[in-house]
Order: sequence, then structure tokens, then C-alpha cells
Amino acid sequence: MNIHTTLVLGTHNQHKKKEVAKILAPWRITLQNLADYPSALEVPETGSTFSENARQKASVQAKHLSTWVLAEDSGLAVDALGGQPGVFSARYSGEGANDIKNNSKLLENLKNVPPEKRTAKYVCHFSLSDPSGNIRAESEAYCYGRILLSPEGNNGFGYDPLFEIIEYHRPFGILSPELKSLISHRARALRALIPDLVTIFSE
Ligand code: IMP
Repeated sequence: MNIHTTLVLGTHNQHKKKEVAKILAPWRITLQNLADYPSALEVPETGSTFSENARQKASVQAKHLSTWVLAEDSGLAVDALGGQPGVFSARYSGEGANDIKNNSKLLENLKNVPPEKRTAKYVCHFSLSDPSGNIRAESEAYCYGRILLSPEGNNGFGYDPLFEIIEYHRPFGILSPELKSLISHRARALRALIPDLVTIFSE
């Protein structure tokens, strides 16, 4: 069943938008960007969990723009670091953080940790808000892997050059975007949300 609707994706991250658009393509859901809404807010990520942040980004933006908003919060949780960087994944290396600095900090913090103890997971939480700011659907999913000793490849973004999918013996930095759009945390969470999207937008 196809859904004919337009959804605003509550993120300024172009990589995420590209990945979400690829996953939703078969469903004929048109995605709009916050860039299409010059008055969109920069909703602060003040929560201590992915779900708190995703809910806040969806609800506050939806009420502000008076439209349906699908927001997502995601990040990396490393077992040997007690789940860090977690909700701080984008800002891990502090002021002026970027992917290269974040990856270097992660490698530094794991320098004495052997390969078998470098297990990690990506987490992704989606929240869908109606135009009044009520959360109407949510999903969360994971993608399990291991942090390599050094970065490999340029595909994806963020920690992808370090995040090895154990079954494939390769990181997302090398694996194809097509495979990532099947097995990633974002793909799994979004697929879990589809039945709710069908129900809500077929009403
Ligand atoms: P957010 O915009 O606060 O949700 O930050 C997400 C951060 O988590 C990104 O900046 C990346 O550092 C990391 N992250 C989330 N998803 C991915 C992914 O699919 N690949 C690599 N890094 C990711």
C-alpha cells in the first residue's frame, strides 16, 4: 500500500535526509526539509535519551510550523565506554566538533581496548508529531558492530569509517549506501514506523 503524503523531516543534517529519503522512496512519501521552512526553529537537544530529544524536536517544530514533523535522534553507544558518546555523539569532541575530531577522540579513548571488547551499537529513535505537537508514532532500532583500530573508507558520515559490521568484516565507510539503507539503525527504525504511517495517513 502506498501513502500519499508530505512529511517534514525535522533535521538540518543532509546525510540523514538523504538516507531517510532513500528508505521511504517506495512509499511515495514526499519529504520536505527544514530548509524549505525559513522560519524553522533550531530545537536544542537537551534530553538525556534519544527518545527525549526526538520527541522534543518533533513536537516543538510541528507546533511552530503547524505541520506534521518526523524527527529523529541517533548516535553511537560504545560498550567499553559505558554507552558513550550516546546523545553527545555529534558533539563528542567539544566546541568545533566535526566527524574527523569525533573519530579521533573515540580512537584515543579506546586505545587500550582490544578488538573483541570494542563492541558498539548505533541507536536511532523516530518520533512523529501532529501539527498540534502531539506525538502520534514512535520507533527505536539498533545496528550492532565494532569499532575498528583506524578509519576505513569515505561512505556514509559520522562514525561510519570506524563502525564495522561484523558479519561483513567491513565498516559502513566501505560498505555501499544500498546495504546501509537495508541494515542500519535508521533503516530499521523507519521500517518499524511504516505501519503507523500507513494507518495515520490513510485516515
Ligand atoms: P544528532 O543530529 O544529534 O542526532 O547526532 C547524530 C550523531 O550521531 C551524528 O552526528 C553522528 O556523529 C552519529 N551518527 C548517527 N547516525 C549515524 C550514522 O548512520 N553513521 C555515523 N554516525 C552516525
